[in-house]
Amino acid sequence: MPLAIIAHGGAWDIPGELHAEHLDSCRAAAAAGWNLLTRGETALDAVEAAVRIMEDHGVFDAGRGSHLNADGVVELDAGIMDGATLQAGAVASVKRVANPITLARRVLHESPHVFLVGEGAERFAQEAGLPLCEPEELVVPRERELWERKRRETQAAPPDALFRASDTVGAIALDGEGNLAVANSTGGTFFKHPGRVGDTPIIGCGLYADNTLGAAACTGWGEQIMKTVLARTTVDQIALLGNPMSAANVAIAYFKHRVGGLGGLICMSPRGEVGFAHSTPYLAHAYMIEGMSEIATGMKA
Ligand code: ASP
Repeated sequence: MPLAIIAHGGAWDIPGELHAEHLDSCRAAAAAGWNLLTRGETALDAVEAAVRIMEDHGVFDAGRGSHLNADGVVELDAGIMDGATLQAGAVASVKRVANPITLARRVLHESPHVFLVGEGAERFAQEAGLPLCEPEELVVPRERELWERKRRETQAAPPDALFRASDTVGAIALDGEGNLAVANSTGGTFFKHPGRVGDTPIIGCGLYADNTLGAAACTGWGEQIMKTVLARTTVDQIALLGNPMSAANVAIAYFKHRVGGLGGLICMSPRGEVGFAHSTPYLAHAYMIEGMSEIATGMKA
């Protein structure tokens, strides 16, 4: 089985001046995961490392740099899944954790539960010895300005207009043991209601991995992705069609047709072949499969 990794940095109408930064960061994330895979580390290690790079970067809607909620606070969601065992860990609505993907991984390994939220998740972080940060450390000036502008505008906008597609991040890897893993991390949608959780940390919706079927990670309008259980839908299509690129296209076509879906996804077969598709203008992504001479990056499928 070839080693393989694919990372995404969100699906939306990414402005041209941001393309280079998105591609560089996706490449750096894929490279970090790739280095671990080539040293014999696990797919879980690789996807966690890739997502951490993007959580730390500041340009993405994940970790530091995330969108603010309606109260002007960053609330983070993340999830991770092991395709070998189907063990999963997820956290949501955490305000004092700079790398929620690492907290999600600790939930996977160290908790009898799959999903912890809010203060309980932060208490678990402390119990697990992970550092907590000040909420303000997660806020960058760009997002504070966007939030101030939005607050000055009318609040009478219909709920749909509140969606501003964003740079959620994620990664899928296949390691030398033939194990798949997937990870996803986000600050959620801009100006969301406090406590709102999207698809990103929800198993089957934002992410899914099963060694016997394949793996997928989604990004885009979470409310629509949840309704179509898009990650598991994609994985089922991989198993059915045998080709992850076709599976990605079929899943996005269904998503678009059924709920007018706005978003994108990356996926991988149990053999390390990759797929990606989007209904948005762009999907920032990067991937590397054993045998390729360098990491491939792109903004469109
Ligand atoms: N899916 C994320 C959410 O709804 C947002 C995104 O992917 O950009 O929270």
